[in-house]
Amino acid sequence: MYAKVIVDVAAGGVDRPFDYRLKDAHLGVAAPGMRVLVPFGKRKLTGIIVELSDTASVKNVKSISELLDVTPVLSPELLDLGSWLAKETTCFQITALFAMIPAAMRAKAQKFLVLNEEANHVDVSVQALFGQRIKIPFKEIPEDKTILKAVSRGIQENVLSVYYELKDGAKHKEQKAVTTLQSAQQPKTTKQQETLATIERVADSGAVPVATLINDHGLSRSTIQTLIKNEFLEEHQIVIERNPYERQAGDGREAKQTLTHDQQVAYESIRDAVEERSSKPMLLHGITGSGKTEVYLQAIEQVLKEGREAIVLVPEISLTPQMVERFKRRFGDHVAVMHSALSSGERYDEWMKIHRNEVQVVVGARSAVFAPFNNIGLIIIDEEHESSYKQEDYPRYHAREVAIYRSQTHECPVVLGSATPSMESFARAKKDVYTLLSLPKRVNKKPLPAIELIDMRDELRGGNRSVFSSQLLDKVKDRLAKEEQIVLFLNRRGFSTFVMCRSCGYVGDCPHCEISLTYHQRGNQLKCHYCGHEETMYEECPACESEHIRFFGTGTQKVEEELQKLLPEARIIRMDNDTTRKKGSHEALLKRFGNHEADILLGTQMIAKGLDFPKITLAGVLTADTLLNLPDFRAPERTFQLLTQLGGRAGRDTREGEVVIQTYTPEHYAIQHAKSHDFESFFAYEMQQRRQAGYPPYYFICLITFSHEELLTAMKAAERATRFLKERLSDQSVILGPTPSPISRINDRYRTQCMIKYKREPNFSEILSELFTHYQQEVHKDSRFMAIDRHPNIFM
Ligand code: ADP
Ligand code: ZN
Ligand code: ZN
Repeated sequence: MYAKVIVDVAAGGVDRPFDYRLKDAHLGVAAPGMRVLVPFGKRKLTGIIVELSDTASVKNVKSISELLDVTPVLSPELLDLGSWLAKETTCFQITALFAMIPAAMRAKAQKFLVLNEEANHVDVSVQALFGQRIKIPFKEIPEDKTILKAVSRGIQENVLSVYYELKDGAKHKEQKAVTTLQSAQQPKTTKQQETLATIERVADSGAVPVATLINDHGLSRSTIQTLIKNEFLEEHQIVIERNPYERQAGDGREAKQTLTHDQQVAYESIRDAVEERSSKPMLLHGITGSGKTEVYLQAIEQVLKEGREAIVLVPEISLTPQMVERFKRRFGDHVAVMHSALSSGERYDEWMKIHRNEVQVVVGARSAVFAPFNNIGLIIIDEEHESSYKQEDYPRYHAREVAIYRSQTHECPVVLGSATPSMESFARAKKDVYTLLSLPKRVNKKPLPAIELIDMRDELRGGNRSVFSSQLLDKVKDRLAKEEQIVLFLNRRGFSTFVMCRSCGYVGDCPHCEISLTYHQRGNQLKCHYCGHEETMYEECPACESEHIRFFGTGTQKVEEELQKLLPEARIIRMDNDTTRKKGSHEALLKRFGNHEADILLGTQMIAKGLDFPKITLAGVLTADTLLNLPDFRAPERTFQLLTQLGGRAGRDTREGEVVIQTYTPEHYAIQHAKSHDFESFFAYEMQQRRQAGYPPYYFICLITFSHEELLTAMKAAERATRFLKERLSDQSVILGPTPSPISRINDRYRTQCMIKYKREPNFSEILSELFTHYQQEVHKDSRFMAIDRHPNIFM
């Protein structure tokens, strides 16, 4: 008996299955989808069995050295998905297969076999292995057929389980916490007194982690230290759960809501599709607040009743505890959560729950589309237009495409939900390639908030140089007086601050990238956001030695300062990359805002989604133009989406909401259509633009980028690739380039690209595979050398 194994070397000529003989002990145990250790040249490598066979294609066949699993980690369906993925996204097969397995299983983790139940449930041979123990190192399992089979059966019956222990993954972590101490005295300063009062309030049920106090309650570490030193607080070590979501598991008993008429219609269509095992994708176009999530929840309930499973994809940034709670309240512990903020140990735990059929629903970001379910009844992709569904590294897949492929195997529908569907999806729905479902009204029957445009050119003419127009400021003051809440949105990219010399025009660029440096007030530093290069802010111009060198533009931090100066009484929370870097800080800031510990939430893109706070009655966009002016054909679409999403934040409760958009180009169609809440008209107009310029959905686009330290190497590769493609593609396809990429150098690597626009190229995957094979040797040594991006989101 032989096994075909894909080995873990992403290299030219090796991207295919190799034959290995099965040792006697492995017969009847080894199966496709298991990981193995195999001799390869002089080394031993990990690999994955993709097939068993009675014959080998070569004569001198070596044996598999070791089985790393005793039950398959990849089902036949996922193995097939892997080869489809490698072909469709042009990558090595091993890369595609590993993308579906949790990182913990790839790392050099310690592996254990654990006894879940009484020892007499397993074979005596296995009992003997355990002796008095309930956990043994996997290595102790002998290469013996009877024992291996018994272990394999034990795992399938859930009497045994395999457990990976990682460096970061100890099941319990120790954390610093404090309790309050009785004291006759008061702390000295007001700040210390306030801090202690907060801790007393929070700590009534025992010790509180210091991290919670800092992140969730905004307390200062040094004040806490002082209070410990002066014996107002006592320090402890406490043990916390590895899974952060476990704590807030719901009981799965929340009653469902009575659906509105529109919701009922949408729900029934989905339910019928599930029952008919139709895999025609469905697009649920529902305005913000129209109750899409309730439709998902009830459709999933139906799927579970039929004994099938559901995958729910949510953009990384919307996957907040708020969101997860909603699913846990409904489905209790039938839910697994896959989130990139989980440690690899935590991710492994969630993956294992799915693998062992302990849960029937997974809620997760992009990669949850690979959840190892065997009987999927429904896949939901919420906010389907989000660019985070596309992976920007090997394998460069789009979760929507993967979901649709899987749905065909499982014979189940994929529901794409959005208030602002992508042009691609809406066009397909219009042509009935997808079934179109719509929720045109808000559940609370409130109209969508009124949107007011403010022409910032008028403000400038009137002498107002601030980022805040007088109207916006008046409205903010009004809400502050009424004790209502406000969100203000600022586009990070357009607002980054750069340094320029007023005498000679010198601009501070990164020495390694073709991009200007960003000024950070903290530490008075200049930083490159692409490669991390840092330097101290210049005292004089490096070019002409003039002292008149200063920074321009406005970062969130500066806007916050300006706002605080204008409104000293306002309590502001700033949310941007700087304030949310730490794990959990994003949710903590939102929680504080939700508790009305602040009046204004000022932030970047990340605040546009998922905020569901009843007291928000005003949403402001400080400048709508920055996103609009990016060199990307999707800029108007993204602007429309963002403005619409932001509008959805205001007036979700009984109070009326209002939106103010400041702009230098109020006449732009993306802004005008957002103002009138008119997705259909925006779609019609935008489609005309796309048709004229030859962009998706009229044409497919593929971007090939080469990057190398030597400009000439990158140039030559792009030229050769262009020639290669010209010979093979039909004359209806257009090949643009080779040209330098818009950012022509990053991290001391020169970047060149060519772009292909095509309508029909039946053999495109094969042609790209051939091209990729040609460069495999180079890609193996340096995976950044070549990037083939089939549905690019980023053109820089
Ligand atoms: P969307 O996801 O479309 O923005 P949500 O599903 O978040 O909308 O629903 C908005 C609000 O309306 C939520 O607070 C939700 O609990 C509530 N809701 C949804 N459907 C109903 C219903 N049928 N009856 C009452 N409230 C509902
Ligand atoms: Zn100068
Ligand atoms: Zn740089």
